[in-house]
Amino acid sequence: LSGIIRRVARSKQSRWLEHARGELEHAGHRSGGARSAVLEALDREPCCLTAQEIFDNLRTDGRAVGIASVYRTLELLWNLNLVRRVDIGASACYEPEQPGGEHHHHLVCERCGKVSAFEDARLEDAIQRLGRRLEYKVGEHEVVLRGACPDCRAA
Ligand SMILES: [Zn+2]
Ligand SMILES: [Zn+2]
Repeated sequence: LSGIIRRVARSKQSRWLEHARGELEHAGHRSGGARSAVLEALDREPCCLTAQEIFDNLRTDGRAVGIASVYRTLELLWNLNLVRRVDIGASACYEPEQPGGEHHHHLVCERCGKVSAFEDARLEDAIQRLGRRLEYKVGEHEVVLRGACPDCRAA
């Protein structure tokens, strides 16, 4: 691993928002109210969020969206392939599924619980190569590395 950890570029995020709104409309769903609040909360964040975190963020912003609506919206977005579900800890987290397939993977510190994102081109090549060897066309995939983050290692 080359250890490239960076935040997803803003431009990609905004493209997702447009894309997600278009797909919702196409599937016959209005994107007002709770739905649009959840879309914007996901769009603002470079990495994944749990339903509870989305609920809390919206409440901090003064947007009253019930937790049940957050769950319903996430389920809908997931069914439409607009978010990916990442299983990192006790609860599932969600992040935008970019229309161009750009994605990152995750590092989880088992001591402090911090989640970080990384991208690595050689890892992606290796996954595609593995797919060819197994005669699979690899699409979505998850890589989660667990261990101790730099801060916890130093402590
Ligand atoms: Zn992420
Ligand atoms: Zn990947």
